Amino acid sequence: MASGARKVADIIEPQPVIEGAGVKLRRSIATRRLNYVDPFLLFDHFGSDDPRDYLPGFPMHPHRGIETVTYMLAGLVDHKDSIGNAGTIGAGDVQWMTSGGGILHEEMPKPKEGKMEGFQLWVNLPARLKMSRPRYQEIPAAAIPVARRADGVTVRVVAGESEGVRGPVTEIAADPEYLDVTVPSGTEYVQAVPEGHAALAYVFEGDGVFGEEGGQVVPSPRMVVFGDGDRVRAKAAGKKPLRFLLLSGKPLGEPIARYGPFVMNTKEEIEQALEDLRKGTFVWR
Ligand code: FE
Repeated sequence: MASGARKVADIIEPQPVIEGAGVKLRRSIATRRLNYVDPFLLFDHFGSDDPRDYLPGFPMHPHRGIETVTYMLAGLVDHKDSIGNAGTIGAGDVQWMTSGGGILHEEMPKPKEGKMEGFQLWVNLPARLKMSRPRYQEIPAAAIPVARRADGVTVRVVAGESEGVRGPVTEIAADPEYLDVTVPSGTEYVQAVPEGHAALAYVFEGDGVFGEEGGQVVPSPRMVVFGDGDRVRAKAAGKKPLRFLLLSGKPLGEPIARYGPFVMNTKEEIEQALEDLRKGTFVWR
């Protein structure tokens, strides 16, 4: 544990990957460069003006042992799952899915004026919740509160708290903060983050300096990984506003065994997941 403003520990350039049935995305966590930032297992940024890059989508697939958070900036995604949810999420909406012991779901992007952009984050579940009942929270854009500061900083609060505004996503095992922060040019923003929690900033518009004054300018898109401290400091370094997701969460400190959409504690549990799929006993009932 260490108090003070968090220093930049690493800056990750997202890598192009192809996922699902052929969707092009940019991945910052779950790569050879950065496998895991406990409790965060994966971070993808999808975005394109060309429907061919995303229309193949993510046909029906399983998950076990994790939570997935999808946050849309543009476009639409049709979804349905084995616990009976179905619908469409669009710009500004958030879908927080707890797979628990087993869910099957489908995520199929649809173009809206050709554009599609958003993020998917995977948050690990502790061993005691890996086989729990699946859960699904959908938060429409209008239900996500926005904190506005006098200096022009705006924060959409998905989970956690900023400027006294609390986000609607609750009861998540990792006690996460998920903030969409926009900082006007030349302005500084400081956010309290619990000591000992992992903290990340995903820069997706503009340029910023994080940590100490005079630090390296981070362009978009980049993932900033912070060292420990009790707050995160960011300053918009360019002419345009800086926009980033600020993510933090409590590390689990447990062993992980990951295989595609399953993340468990041991190899045996992964084999069990594959066997349950084969036997048709995968889905939680
Ligand atoms: Fe999925």
